[in-house]
Amino acid sequence: MPDRAPHATSTTESGSFCTARCACGWRGPARRARSQARTDAERHLSDAPAGPPAGTGAERPLE
Ligand SMILES: [Zn+2]
Repeated sequence: MPDRAPHATSTTESGSFCTARCACGWRGPARRARSQARTDAERHLSDAPAGPPAGTGAERPLE
């Protein structure tokens, strides 16, 4: 996996649920198990392109 991938995933716990998030703005479904959220994150990294789209300008969603 390339180190320069713009994706940086993390998991956020909310109540009894855990959600995977990524620096690119992606967010996974709420999971009851953190391990499932991590699996979602890994799947996102696998599905995501190796780099940002060229020319369109990377937009970040407002928090
Ligand atoms: Zn991402």
